Amino acid sequence: MPRVFNFSPGPATLPEPVLRQAAEEMLDWHGSGMSVMEMSHRGKEFMGIYAEAEALLRELMGIPAHYKVLFLQGGAIGQNAIVPMNLIGRTGRADYVISGDWSRKSAKEAAQYGTVRIAASSEQDGRFRSVPAPDSWKIDPGAAYVHLCSNETIGGVEFFDTPDTGAVPLVADMSSDILSRPIDVSRYGLIYAGAQKNMGPSGLTVVIVREDLLGHALPITPTVFNYQIQAASESMYNTPPTFGIYIAGLVYRHVKALGGLGVVERMNREKAALLYDFLDASAFFSNPIEPGSRSIMNVPFWLRDSTLDAKFLQGADARGLVQLKGHRSVGGMRASLYNAMPIDGVRALVAYMREFEAEHG
Ligand SMILES: *Cc1c(COP(=O)(O)O)cnc(C)c1O
Repeated sequence: MPRVFNFSPGPATLPEPVLRQAAEEMLDWHGSGMSVMEMSHRGKEFMGIYAEAEALLRELMGIPAHYKVLFLQGGAIGQNAIVPMNLIGRTGRADYVISGDWSRKSAKEAAQYGTVRIAASSEQDGRFRSVPAPDSWKIDPGAAYVHLCSNETIGGVEFFDTPDTGAVPLVADMSSDILSRPIDVSRYGLIYAGAQKNMGPSGLTVVIVREDLLGHALPITPTVFNYQIQAASESMYNTPPTFGIYIAGLVYRHVKALGGLGVVERMNREKAALLYDFLDASAFFSNPIEPGSRSIMNVPFWLRDSTLDAKFLQGADARGLVQLKGHRSVGGMRASLYNAMPIDGVRALVAYMREFEAEHG
């Protein structure tokens, strides 16, 4: 059975060489006589795996020395609470920028821990077709931070320019576009991401936080989710998600071997352009997002006639093009083109869409 082209938004496709290496090392990691899953998180072997994963992530993203890298649990949805618990205490209030469902969800959760204000929103008639224009942002200079979601996984809306938030630290949920292109980490106060889109298995959450933002946790913050305490114990206040960290490390090594994030961005842009160019030329399929905000990771698209949706998905499945159904809140289709999706997968998808349009358009 050949591997399918898996367009799932997450958990998502992983690089085949990484899966092969993990399979090879499963029963006996480097002569240890055990799998990584079975190792002590404080043992020499795992400490080496951990150190390499962190060093590779720092190298790939160019993370400055005065930032801590944490490998936690609880996912990005956990961070929706954990970020305000740790950061909002400095002033008691935070600004949120709304560009889709995920950022809206983040703002709602944060409101349980302090005063949350919407600094900007691109919602129009209940939909999001772009990121909020930078000149529309009204940032409260007294906000403890301003939060955005760099890539709205459901809506397919992505920030390509890092907004200037002045002295107010910028916090970003990068779950679905981390490692997809180079970014300037020094422009952010905090970055968080669940691993299961571009980095590895679900169960691992990466947090990159500027050191000076630590130390303001609300008293109710669970110790295991206190950034300062986790930073002081190398994310080992509790048992970290060891297997996820190991796989993420293999993914980082793979990305480095490809040539780093600059090369990865070129590959991702080429894949996304293939699909968007087809959509724009089609009278049967469409994507309504403004060109400057179109995600290069998640491409939602709609058939002109939604009664053909089920037939489209069935035909796709039969060709090994799977998990294309759009999010239940928006309907239609969605093709997620994460780093590990080969360009051949996008070519096969476009060829199928062309065929389907010729038959039904
Ligand atoms: C997938 C995703 C989440 C949710 O992640 P969980 O691991 O389910 O907590 C949050 N934000 C964004 C942008 C995502 O893509």
